[in-house]
Amino acid sequence: MYIVQIASECAPVIKAGGLGDVVYGLSRELEIRGNSVEIILPKYDCMRYDHIWGWHDAYVDLLVPWYGGTVHCSVYCGWVHGRLCFFIEPHSQDNFFNRGVYYGCSDDNMRFAFFSKAALEFLQKSNKRPDVIHCHDWQTGLIPVMLFENYKYDMGLQRVCYTIHNFKHQGIGGVETLWATGLNRPEYFFTPDRLQDDFNPFVLNFMKGGIVYSNFVTTVSPNHAWEARHTEIGYGLGHTLHMHQDKFRGVLNGIDYDIWNPEVDRYLPAPYSPSTIEEKTQSKKALRERLLLQDNDKPIICFIGRLDEQKGVHLVHHAIYYVLEQGAQFVLLGSATEAGINTHFQHEKQVLNDNPDVHLELGFNEELSHLIYAGADMIIVPSNYEPCGLTQMIGLKYGTVPIVRGVGGLVNTVFDRDYDETHLPEQRNGYVFYQTDHQAIEFAIDRALGLYFNAPDEFRQLVLQGMSYDYSWNYPGKEYLEIYELIRHKAV
Ligand code: ADP
Repeated sequence: MYIVQIASECAPVIKAGGLGDVVYGLSRELEIRGNSVEIILPKYDCMRYDHIWGWHDAYVDLLVPWYGGTVHCSVYCGWVHGRLCFFIEPHSQDNFFNRGVYYGCSDDNMRFAFFSKAALEFLQKSNKRPDVIHCHDWQTGLIPVMLFENYKYDMGLQRVCYTIHNFKHQGIGGVETLWATGLNRPEYFFTPDRLQDDFNPFVLNFMKGGIVYSNFVTTVSPNHAWEARHTEIGYGLGHTLHMHQDKFRGVLNGIDYDIWNPEVDRYLPAPYSPSTIEEKTQSKKALRERLLLQDNDKPIICFIGRLDEQKGVHLVHHAIYYVLEQGAQFVLLGSATEAGINTHFQHEKQVLNDNPDVHLELGFNEELSHLIYAGADMIIVPSNYEPCGLTQMIGLKYGTVPIVRGVGGLVNTVFDRDYDETHLPEQRNGYVFYQTDHQAIEFAIDRALGLYFNAPDEFRQLVLQGMSYDYSWNYPGKEYLEIYELIRHKAV
């Protein structure tokens, strides 16, 4: 099958979070299974060019219709660790992708509406006719809309699978989006069964468009698919999902075990596996040396992730102090996009600066994240909501016991050692708490530390049980191929 992924990220060349990992990892798995995969991305000024090989022109003068005129674009091409990627660069005064950031501009909706239009124009003009176009998140929500409304007669029969990684960010536009992209006809699109937002009738909702117009819609875990339909976590799209329930499903993300695997990880001082688990202490030692933490026999608890409301920052903050009180060490690696949260953690970093048992690393650091996953004994994921969550799955692979809040994909991947009733004791792999108050996370941390200090053999057994889980792309890759086959052969 010929599959084209269109997204705003692909790790490691463009990565702000899990989306990038998923686009890369899924593409790789699909290729291993004998399919041909290409990835279309924006060409950002700030992406990691050092991860691209064989950079060359793919399409020199791509003229993309935009408002009444056209925008001249260049399309480049190169391999990102074996994946064939196309990068679209518009030459216009808007400088859409030369902003030094991937997201967070006031015209993000127009930046990605343009990218969506340009990606389709590129497919059409370069005679690429994939069997399936797989789009991701709000940034590409307009692709199935434009494909169906404006391109289908030129393009032929392309099927679209649309994956929602985060319902909170839906992409909102006004009538200008319609004029710019050539969709036009406001009276047609501003209707409840098309793109009109369910809360604000004066705006268009890109993600809603993606749901309505795609042949299949997925989100990134079965539990989150349920939450999105039935709770406020759908951020207002529950009704639309309900209307399209027959083509909606949760498919658990995988992680790429070529990248996230302590047996082959080049960022670790020594490889380890379940049979050589004692070698993990070398990573712990290296982590302490690198972050200037005291070398003692305390366990290390870590947090890795974006510092924002979604990730439960108030519980992260509380956990730092609680863990220190309980005689353990804490390492945090996180970046905040919100100024208030950033200032807060900068302040905490100063306050804790002289404490030899804690390190707060504020910023994005892929290399360091590998050493933390390996060097820590436990990882906390206290999210308010978590569509899938990759950090707990990576933690499991590295023998780092997850302590998570029971929401979203965390429920599908972490099974409480003491209380899970659906898994046998030998299948349990971490600790789960449910409430958002301090006591809930404290109790879970107490249980984890209690086992670590008082029953080291049992803690080791829990580590090994976690490492034995297979959260690779093997199963999800198969499931996505089934979905692609389904929509290819379904008359919609
Ligand atoms: P989300 O997509 O909501 O950000 P996920 O858990 O799905 O969260 O994916 C997070 C990914 O981003 C993981 O690969 C994690 O290691 C990585 N990550 C998050 N924050 C950082 C950071 N500050 N430095 C390095 N990697 C990070």
